[in-house]
Amino acid sequence: MTKWSLSCSDCEYETGAEKLAGVCPDCGLPLLVRYAELPTSAGMNRLANRPWDMWRYTEFLPIENGEIPVSLGEGATPLVRIPDLEDELELERIWVKDESQNPTGSFKSRGMAAAITRASLDGAPSLVVPTAGNAGVALAAYGARCGLATKVFAPTTTPARILGQIRLFGADLELIEGHIGDCGKAARAFSLETGAFDVSTLKEPFRIEGKKTLGLELAEQLGWTLPDSIVYPTGGGTGLIGMWKAFDELAKSGWIGSNQVKLHSVQSTGCAPVPRAMSEGADAVTAWENPKTVAAGLRVPAPLGGRLMLRALRETGGSAVAVEDSALTQEQRFLGKKGVDAAPEGGATVAGLRHLRASGGVSKGEKVVLFNTGAGWLYDAD
Ligand SMILES: *Cc1c(COP(=O)(O)O)cnc(C)c1O
Repeated sequence: MTKWSLSCSDCEYETGAEKLAGVCPDCGLPLLVRYAELPTSAGMNRLANRPWDMWRYTEFLPIENGEIPVSLGEGATPLVRIPDLEDELELERIWVKDESQNPTGSFKSRGMAAAITRASLDGAPSLVVPTAGNAGVALAAYGARCGLATKVFAPTTTPARILGQIRLFGADLELIEGHIGDCGKAARAFSLETGAFDVSTLKEPFRIEGKKTLGLELAEQLGWTLPDSIVYPTGGGTGLIGMWKAFDELAKSGWIGSNQVKLHSVQSTGCAPVPRAMSEGADAVTAWENPKTVAAGLRVPAPLGGRLMLRALRETGGSAVAVEDSALTQEQRFLGKKGVDAAPEGGATVAGLRHLRASGGVSKGEKVVLFNTGAGWLYDAD
């Protein structure tokens, strides 16, 4: 018997630990991993002697004893305090979790390490992904690591340095006139034609398990407590949904006492389907027309995980805000002046936090974690 099974995030569908699973065959929405047995609080002691990478949380990951992960040392990223901003915004703590320090320059390393570990163990012949950029870099690197051929579809607007990294790691790169949704259609067609396994966001259940380690690691770094608020730059939503799942599993295991963190989503005003759905009280996200933003990772007009994201935001008492591209690039430069190599998406969390302080979504004295999801150097200088 395997350690986990799969169940639909939306309908009643359930299945075992099927190999190379895609979305729910009944309703087309994402499948999620359910563990037969989560560790008990005593299981925490086993962490002490483990290496500092995301695989230290093996009890919460889709890997069996004796299986070897495809790894480049992903995870174990630092929390960097920004004291000046704490004072200015009257917050007890502001930490930036600096995901730019991952092997491929973004937190996409975590999700791809988990998905490609499973795909390679489960016999995928080759791999394909549509990307706004960083997922393509991660796919190429982890594919190279385990010797599987990779195909990447990216918009022509993707920053040139990101495209260079995708090529460096040896993926077959094809540029598409359009956004990530258009790349998704091309990836699907390629997958049907060649048998390549499609690791698109939430079209297979394991990237989210890797992203979950964002939350597991954060809790451990804070002494198995959670901050009051997390501000997350949202595209496809795997990070947000992954952390939500992580905190739920940690609470069920007794590794954290209470699970009270508010999850907040930040998007660009040029592509803001999540804030729009939140303000309309909708339970699904509708497609954003003509998405435009320099924060490539946020240019996801119709995320498959929309329903799940809205639930995560509402059930935790969080919110969603949209910020102008001019504000997010200004805050990207602000983080740079503090020594943090922030992507535009990372800058968006500072801009978002300012909004949230003004709106009351984040109150005086809170402890807040911002996610710098990727490295600034990967985006072309103006
Ligand atoms: C992919 C990406 C995002 C969006 O991530 P999701 O978890 O899918 O919402 C944000 N920032 C950067 C730098 C990214 O590459």
